[in-house]
Amino acid sequence: MKPAPFAYKKVRSLAEAVALLGEHKDARLLAGGQSLIATLNMRLSAPALLIDINGISGLDGISQKAGTVEIGALVRHAAAERSDTITEHAPLLARALPHIGHAAIRNRGTLGGSIAFADPAAELPACLLALDGEVDVTGPKGKRTVKADDFFKGLFETALGPQDVLTAIRVPAAGKDTRVGFAELARRHGDYAIVGLAASARADGKALADVRLAFFGVGATPLRAKKAEAALVAGNVDAAVAALDLEPHDDVQASAAVKKHLTGVLLRRVATQLMEPR
Ligand SMILES: Cc1cc2nc3c(=O)[nH]c(=O)nc-3n(C[C@H](O)[C@H](O)[C@H](O)COP(=O)(O)OP(=O)(O)OC[C@H]3O[C@@H](n4cnc5c(N)ncnc54)[C@H](O)[C@@H]3O)c2cc1C
Repeated sequence: MKPAPFAYKKVRSLAEAVALLGEHKDARLLAGGQSLIATLNMRLSAPALLIDINGISGLDGISQKAGTVEIGALVRHAAAERSDTITEHAPLLARALPHIGHAAIRNRGTLGGSIAFADPAAELPACLLALDGEVDVTGPKGKRTVKADDFFKGLFETALGPQDVLTAIRVPAAGKDTRVGFAELARRHGDYAIVGLAASARADGKALADVRLAFFGVGATPLRAKKAEAALVAGNVDAAVAALDLEPHDDVQASAAVKKHLTGVLLRRVATQLMEPR
């Protein structure tokens, strides 16, 4: 299928993008196009105007500063995968990135696009939540920062308003006590996950503290499993699995019962990873 006709404008500044979003209620931002163009081609959406943000400078950097790793919204998945800064200081992202689609998709798709799109089965929204990260947003009232806990609102629904542009994501830089874990089950490598789990924690002697478990593919948004987190802090993996209180629904990939079973399988795998020193 071909998309419905649309107008196209390539902008050079954030101000221009925000202004155009204000003038055209039926406009969409275009980043890597790896989700948006598919929805256009399938006529799941038919915006009148695409605002291409790839010409805005300063949104494609990766830096480590003040105990955080900051990644510009236009950084491609492939560039992040090759980044020494991410390998060294954001190891959870480094583990998750190779699971996103296939090489051609990672060459064009952006981290900002993935977070803004907020597919419930996507890897990066769950990583952002597991890491207690945040996003920078520029809108008509200027710049603001939103914590991951407050960003994912519902199915493909986020804290972004109609005139907002996500400009960067930020996660805490990993220290020597940082522990991370990542696992997903997909039909084939590169497919969206049936169920996945991104996790972070802090080593506290032989125990774990500050455990954050973010499951994906099990609800409308990435979801924390807080009772299981508490059980892992207490050092009891069996109790953590028993405490999982997620209620996945059937979807095209698997039944709710299969997904629920898989959350326990993944939790055991990730718990083992969290106990390993970096
Ligand atoms: C075959 C296939 C398999 C895939 N598999 C996976 C997978 O396994 N895991 C996964 O996570 N993803 C997967 N993807 C999607 C891929 O990761 C996309 O790159 C990503 O979801 C969207 O990023 P993008 O830059 O392409 O955004 P676009 O497609 O350009 O935009 C997506 C949406 O986000 C909005 N948007 C984009 N950037 C911004 C911004 N800076 N501020 C505000 N809004 C913005 C757009 O307006 C649009 O609504 C797959 C895609 C394909 C085609």
